[in-house]
Amino acid sequence: MTRLKLMVTKLMLDFDNGIVEHMVSESVGSDVLPLLRKLKRKKEVSELELAEIMEADVNTVRNQLYRMHQHNLVFSERRRDESNGWYVYWWGFQPKGLQNLFTRLSKKSLAELEKKLQRESSTTFYACEKNCARLEFEDAYSIEFRCPECGELMHLREADKDRIQVLKRQIAALKATAR
Ligand SMILES: [Zn+2]
Repeated sequence: MTRLKLMVTKLMLDFDNGIVEHMVSESVGSDVLPLLRKLKRKKEVSELELAEIMEADVNTVRNQLYRMHQHNLVFSERRRDESNGWYVYWWGFQPKGLQNLFTRLSKKSLAELEKKLQRESSTTFYACEKNCARLEFEDAYSIEFRCPECGELMHLREADKDRIQVLKRQIAALKATAR
């Protein structure tokens, strides 16, 4: 929930730069970022050369490449090395993978936000005067409408219009950025 919320905020705030790396970190892992940066600047590179560039062992680089491949961020091609006859894998960056990733993550965030909005608009909440915590009827009932924080009596709360507005704005912004 929190991560999604953070992601949505990120999506809307720095749509330009950090967004791409943020999406990749969220779905593939932040350890692949240096490798992805290198790949984006090059055409195709053999995995041996990549390991050299990254100053890492081939298995580490391979593992990162496979994980990116699962999200279609990179493509690979097997080529024969003429000098020794061995087959070597070459890798390249695949921009359309990022677009797909973005679309998928946006849909996920949108679904979460819409669920929240639905809950916010249709649920009856209870809270004390100080608003320590908001509870649904069942939960408030089970503790006899005594605030779990301060012990004061909890009352029925009107729908939180501000919260609903914020959610509606976030949903609209996300719909506008995602196709
Ligand atoms: Zn309270």
